[in-house]
Amino acid sequence: SELWQNVPLAPPDSIFKLTAAYKADTFDKKVNLGVGAYRDDNDKPWILPVVRKAEEIILNTPALDHEYLPITGLPEFTIAAAKLILGPDSSAIAEGRVTTVQTISGTGANHLGALFLSRFYQWSGDKKEVYLSDPTWANHPAIFNNVGIASLYYPYYDPKTIGLNFDGFVSSLKSAPSGSVFLIHACAHNPTGVDPTRDQWDAIAKIMLDKGHYGFFDCAYQGFASGDLDNDAWAVRFFVDKGVNMLICQSFAKNAGLYGERVGALHVVSPNKEAAERVKSQLSVLQRSEISNPPSYGARIRDISTMAGRIIDMRKELFKILTEELHTPGNWDHIVNQIGMFSFTGITPEQSKALTEKAHIYLTVNGRISMTGLNRNNIRYFATSLDAAVR
Ligand code: PLP
Repeated sequence: SELWQNVPLAPPDSIFKLTAAYKADTFDKKVNLGVGAYRDDNDKPWILPVVRKAEEIILNTPALDHEYLPITGLPEFTIAAAKLILGPDSSAIAEGRVTTVQTISGTGANHLGALFLSRFYQWSGDKKEVYLSDPTWANHPAIFNNVGIASLYYPYYDPKTIGLNFDGFVSSLKSAPSGSVFLIHACAHNPTGVDPTRDQWDAIAKIMLDKGHYGFFDCAYQGFASGDLDNDAWAVRFFVDKGVNMLICQSFAKNAGLYGERVGALHVVSPNKEAAERVKSQLSVLQRSEISNPPSYGARIRDISTMAGRIIDMRKELFKILTEELHTPGNWDHIVNQIGMFSFTGITPEQSKALTEKAHIYLTVNGRISMTGLNRNNIRYFATSLDAAVR
């Protein structure tokens, strides 16, 4: 018979089929509510200002070449990504128990995580199975199927309450054999938009610990549930603190608006540093044979955006403390209007010297401050000292 005659014709992906149908539609009032990509009020793709800024910096930095990244990714990116999901003060990071590998967005993180488990997880018996929420992202069962892991489903959505089927979820956790792998949406569950409450997360973590289940956390929407990155990472951080064995798949497609750049990370949290090193060595081997080296452009954008975003936050915070709380004399609009790493405060050389001598705040006498030196812990001290200096 002819070559490929036995290849069955697969149906097109339903979401991308929907988009194609929308594009082809000529009706003037057409509306697309299918694809999960952010659109602005004019239904146009949205590029975050901070991403634009990062792109400008990249363009103007000749030292940023086109060499291969390390197999596990851009180190500045993987460190920042781990801190973003696990928290800047994460003890797991401090203890060297977290292995982070840069991946091809969230899909790549899911794939690499699934591949790693398929090879190395201590499966009980010869069956490889993962429990997925019913319903879940359509790609989950396909990704696990590709690496020989079968999908089972745990009750999640209750159509009667249009909410969480908590009892069903809990009884699945309890009845699953010890050491089962549960895929859990970290926040902003796709497709239901239904997340457990903190009390419910607490109960889920307890059972997972009791039963020695493994948590395969998928985090594609950090920031989209509450608008706050830390808030949305609460469940992940809670489970890590409780000592649940787990990994986290992280996507920056949605929260950085970097869909096409494929920026993501896989974080495996191990019981100790030695285990984390062994995990890292094997993830490197797997990654090498699959993609060799992750792409640099998106990781650089994301990395620089993190810095730029923090600077913008510090500008806003400083402005707010000076104007709304301390009612510091003078106009401080320039703090928020200026861009980049430095801010010209407009204070006199005498005031600048006074800041250094009296408050131990070091800045050039022309009143220029580097915004990168400000952080949540010292911004109030700086603002009150500045206030005192100009009065
Ligand atoms: N996980 C979930 C639950 C998702 O909804 C998505 C995207 O729709 C992803 C992972 C991965 O997306 P990407 O590969 O674009 O980061």
